[in-house]
Amino acid sequence: PTFKDLQLRPALLQRLQELNYHTPTSIQEAAIPFILAGSDIAGQAETGSGKTAAYGLPVLQSINTDLQQIQALVVVPTRELAVQVRHELKQYAQQLPNLKISAFYGGHAFSQERASLAFPPQVLVGTPGRLVDHLNRKTLTLGQVKQLVLDEADKLLEMGFQEELDQIIDALPQKRQVILFSATMPEPVKELIADSLQEPQFIEA
Ligand code: AMP
Repeated sequence: PTFKDLQLRPALLQRLQELNYHTPTSIQEAAIPFILAGSDIAGQAETGSGKTAAYGLPVLQSINTDLQQIQALVVVPTRELAVQVRHELKQYAQQLPNLKISAFYGGHAFSQERASLAFPPQVLVGTPGRLVDHLNRKTLTLGQVKQLVLDEADKLLEMGFQEELDQIIDALPQKRQVILFSATMPEPVKELIADSLQEPQFIEA
């Protein structure tokens, strides 16, 4: 199938053409329709599979740019990945006016992040420790989040972020879509899926 067959909006299709993405990767083909349909997803996919676009494109498509609220939260294990994911999502969102994407992570100026929330992004990418820091200091509220992405879930848990993930998930509305990607599916990741996803669709690259 083509990206058009996957029901992506013209503004995204045009952008993909400019970026010379001709065909969806297998994880994109599997994930995009389920994510657009609102299902929770547990996807096994490694870096290089196109997993960022697999969640990024349908998440961007579901943002209501008339609202200045954090609608999608992408949790990643490292600052490098936070910066990279923000950059990649911005690439895809270039033709979507009024869509703001920010990244919060350890080592970044906290006060600058807090100030940026005066005009909240619709998409926030962050590392667990820094997100929890904001929650504890009540500088960040996640009550309007509709979609949570847990990217590199195996790494998030290997790095010991279970408690931070619990706190972040507790701050979300009950009704939300959870999209999890992991390169591997060890027991702790399976437990996270069982605890935090509802009737997930399991997909593989
Ligand atoms: P990821 O697995 O998300 O780290 O993506 C790996 C690389 O593949 C990224 O640099 C993307 O820009 C690129 N990419 C993702 N999807 C496609 C696609 N359908 N066609 C061509 N390149 C892609």
